[in-house]
This record gives sequence, structure tokens and C-alpha cells, in this order.
Amino acid sequence: MAKHPHLTPNGSPPKTKNIWGTTKRIWLYLAEQKGLLTFILVLITVSVVLTLLGPYLIGVAVDDYIVDRNTDGLLWLLIFLAIIYVVNSLAIWLQNYLMIGIAQNTVYSMRRHLFRHLHCLPIRFFDRKQHGELMSRLTNDIENVSRTLNSSVIQIFSSVLTLFGTIAFMIYLSPILTFITLTVIPLLYLGMKWITTRTKKFFREQQRNLGDLNGYIEETISGQSVVKTFSQEEKVINQFKEKNERLKISGYWAQAYSGFIPKLMNVLNNLSFAIIALAGGILAVYDLVSIGVIVTFTQYSRQFTRPLNDLANQYNTLLSAVAGAERVFDVMDEEKEKEVENNIELPTVNGEVQFRNVSFSYDEEDGQTIFDVSFQSSAGETVALVGPTGAGKTTIINLLSRFYDPEQGVITIDGNDISRVTRESLRQHMGFVLQDPCLFQGTIRENIRYGKLDATGDEVIEAAKLANAHSFITKFPKGYDTVLTQDGGGISQGQKQLLSIARAILARPKILILDEATSSIDTVTEIKIQEALSRLMSGRTSFVIAHRLNTIQQADQIVVLNEGRVIEKGTHQSLLNEKGFYYQLYQGHLKNDVV
Ligand code: ADP
Repeated sequence: MAKHPHLTPNGSPPKTKNIWGTTKRIWLYLAEQKGLLTFILVLITVSVVLTLLGPYLIGVAVDDYIVDRNTDGLLWLLIFLAIIYVVNSLAIWLQNYLMIGIAQNTVYSMRRHLFRHLHCLPIRFFDRKQHGELMSRLTNDIENVSRTLNSSVIQIFSSVLTLFGTIAFMIYLSPILTFITLTVIPLLYLGMKWITTRTKKFFREQQRNLGDLNGYIEETISGQSVVKTFSQEEKVINQFKEKNERLKISGYWAQAYSGFIPKLMNVLNNLSFAIIALAGGILAVYDLVSIGVIVTFTQYSRQFTRPLNDLANQYNTLLSAVAGAERVFDVMDEEKEKEVENNIELPTVNGEVQFRNVSFSYDEEDGQTIFDVSFQSSAGETVALVGPTGAGKTTIINLLSRFYDPEQGVITIDGNDISRVTRESLRQHMGFVLQDPCLFQGTIRENIRYGKLDATGDEVIEAAKLANAHSFITKFPKGYDTVLTQDGGGISQGQKQLLSIARAILARPKILILDEATSSIDTVTEIKIQEALSRLMSGRTSFVIAHRLNTIQQADQIVVLNEGRVIEKGTHQSLLNEKGFYYQLYQGHLKNDVV
């Protein structure tokens, strides 16, 4: 496997919170294409030398041919100059062309690494982050890096080379005039420093505000129905306005300050021109330099401030790209979901599950969520988790599927401590049928096959039949080849449930996790779902976050939770006899079917 350029040899990501560190990491990506990059460097050197040769030859033309009135010589020199300019243009075109390829390859790798890394991060990470903001890192920030690489790398190399080349040529022609020309540098340095310290801050802010805004847009668009149901439009629009305003202000200042740069360069350019004309004129009077050298110098002075100008401009673009890259690397530096070393594969199990004194908190600050939970289920049993909202039912499931690990206590399956088995092998034994089933963009067949990737067509159909899904699927004109959109648009909530049941049937897990839908589904579909579920659940250990009386009554065991604690355990009848919390729940809501 190719080495990740963003990881140090010992596999841990280096911590970078600075421009150089981040630039170095971008460089590591670029360095993967060293051969091509070297070739571009050679091309840049060629074009820089040719660019430097131009003014020098014009100086020679003035001194040797124009002053001597040698038109033949002048003609040849001009032809030579024309060839130089043509070759130079070709070299520049080729550099740019090749660089586009390098930039695209680089951001391709970055996107790939970031996406892969995202999928190795613990659920805890996603709880903390706005999804749209994360998406913005994968798209906007990386695109920013790509744009900068396209334009900046060549500019930077070529500017640096031109700068040093020009100074070398100038010193060769006249050290004293060189010294006089360079007096503008301290002015330039001070001006630049003043501008860049300000732009840096605003560019970073602009990038952050853009991410924030994107996140907000994503959140409100995907949660549009929630916004509408709660009549939050006004509030959302106002919050958007605030974020939009912040982005406007940081964008304004970032652009405004960086806009000073060309103006400053212009002033300094004219200043150096004037200095050369004046000092050169005086030196020429004393025969210390020729007219040709002064002509060459006026050209060089432009050529020498231009790369400085370019470098300064690039510095800004580079800063915004580095700010973007920093945000990308920040995610890559997030610690992956840790797998304890030497964890074993969970062997084939019967499905005996035990929670022993399990305690857990999502966040230390928020306090403990689950307190000393113990219960056990034999293989094939159905356990209904019952309790008011926020009691900890989902958390119990999260712990069982190892999205989180308990702080205290152990969870075992057939006696195997699940924290000692790999997550992958654990989840292979589990099937999930959730309230809002997750469907992917693809055909119905592909969506069912997600439960077992190597299932044959017949197996898929068999599973769909058992899940009571076959009849509605075949009613679609394209049957199993009907393409579903990402959010399962085009089919009803109940049909989505049936598809996810088919998926679980195909996977043949030993342990089932069911999150019963609270939303009402039409009675016919509801019966189909219940029937499919009971087929799915037979012979499997099932944990149901139960809301319907029917399910709860049929469960072999009911675990009643409240405020993170197991307060009662038993069957429907035994719990009713106890006349405790469950009894009250039953009297309150359960009797009417919904918790
Ligand atoms: P239930 O499924 O019974 O409604 P949950 O297990 O979802 O309850 O929640 C139990 C408690 O944990 C609640 O107080 C809830 O706010 C908190 N909680 C749930 N998920 C998270 C999370 N990802 N981060 C922090 N706290 C959470």
C-alpha cells in the first residue's frame, strides 16, 4: 500500500498549526510526482534564462549596433530575439500544461486520503462537527489548494529564479548601479509586511466563515422540513444573515488589503525607474556605464520588481490555500477509531448478550449517561428496551455495536468481551433496521445487496420475498433495477423499512437491532412490516427500541430504563404485576400504543 504522505513514519500524524508545517505537508503530496516536477523546474529555468537574455541583448543592440549604426547586425539580433521569445512562450505554455496535471493529481490524492480518513473516524467526531462544514473541507478547501497549485507553484519558482538571475546579471553589468537599484528593497519589505500581517488574519477568517456558512446552508436545507414544521424560517434567515455578514466583512478586508499590493508595487516600480535613470545618467556622463547598460537596467528593474510583486501576490493566494489545507490536515490529524491491538475476530456466535455493570458518558462535561447497567439475554431472545425519551435506549445500542466503548463494565457476546474483538467482525454478526433506514443512490437490488455484497440475484429476491417487499418492487416498471435516490425519494417510509428488513434478512446476522418507527405507517404496510420483522427476528437475538405495545408484549424480556439506569426487568405481565414504573408507563401512554 502506498505510504500516506500526511503521516510520519511511525504512523502518527504530525501536528501542524503553522504555515511552514502545512506547506511542507502539501509539498509531500507534490513530491509524489517528483519526476514531472523536476522536468517543469528545468523548463522554468530555461524560460527564466531566456527572459533574462532579452533585456541583455537589447542592451547589446543599443551599444554595439544602434550606436555603431550596424543595421545588418541589428537585424540578426532582432531575429534571434524573436526566436528566444517564441521558445520562451512555448516553454511557459508547457509548464502550465504539465502543472495542471500535477495539481489535479495532488488534490485527487488529498480528497482520497481525507475521505478515507473520515470513514475511519469515530462517531464521536461526527457528533461534534457540522456535516456541511466537513463537506466544505472536502470540496471548497481542497479546490482552493488545487487552484493555488495550478497558478502558484510555477510562479513561485519562476519568480525566485528570475529574481536571483536578474540580480546576478545586474551585478555582472554594473555593481554600483545594482546597489543603487536595490535601495528600494527595504521600502518594499516594510510595505509588504504591513499588508501581509493584515491579510493573513482576514483570509483565515474568511475561510472559517465560509465553512461556517456552508455548514449552516447544508444543515438548514437538509433539515428544511424541521425548519418549516417549527416555523423557524425567520430565525434561520436572521442567523444566515449574521453569518453572511461576517463572511462579507472578512472577505472585504482580505481583498481590500491585498488590493494594496499592486498599488505599492507600482509606486516602487516607478521610483526605481527614476532612480536608475538619474543615477545611470550621472554614471554615463562619467563613462562608468554605457547607454545600453542603462536600457538593460530599466528593463531589469521591472523584471526584478515583477517577481517580487508576483511573489507577494502569490503569498496571499498561498495563504488562503494553506489556510484551506490546514483545515483539511486538521481532519486528517483527528485520531482514527482506535482498534485495540491484538483484538480478535469474533467467532461464530449463538447470540447470548450480557451487559455487566456498564457505565458510560458521551462527554465528561455533560455528565454520565448510563449508570451501572446490567442485563442479559439468551440466544434467540427478543429484548425490548423501554423508557422515556433520553432514558438511554439508543446509547445502549450504540455501546453494543461499539460506536462507543463503555468506561466501566463489560459487554459480552457468547462470553467474548466485545471490546476485545474487532469492530468489523462484531458488526458482521449484527443487523440493523432503523427508524429512518439509510438507502443509497443505486438500484433496489444494490440496496438490498448491501447486506451481503456477494449475494446472488436469487438470494436478493428470496430475501425481498421474506421481507414482504417483493410484491411492491415488482410493481415498479423497472422492478429490482429501479434506481433510488440517496434519500430514498420515490418510495414510502414503510417501503423503505421493508427494504431495510430485506437487507437484514440477506445478511443473516445473529444479533438484530431494531429501532421501531414512531411515525405512523398505513395499516396494511404496518402489518407487512410486523410480519416481515417476526420472520427476521425468529431464531435471532433481537434488541428492539420499542414503541408499540404489540412488540413489547411479545418480547421475551423487557428492560425498562430511566435516566440511564435499568429500573425494572421482566415480561409484560410480571412488570404489570409489580405495579412499578412500567405499570405507570403502561397506564399513561403504552395502553394507547405509543411510548
Ligand atoms: P433514548 O434513545 O432513550 O431516547 P439516548 O440514548 O438517545 O436516549 O440519550 C440518552 C442521553 O444521552 C440523553 O440525555 C441525550 O441527550 C444524550 N446523548 C445522546 N446522544 C448523544 C451524543 N452523541 N452526544 C452527547 N450526548 C448524547
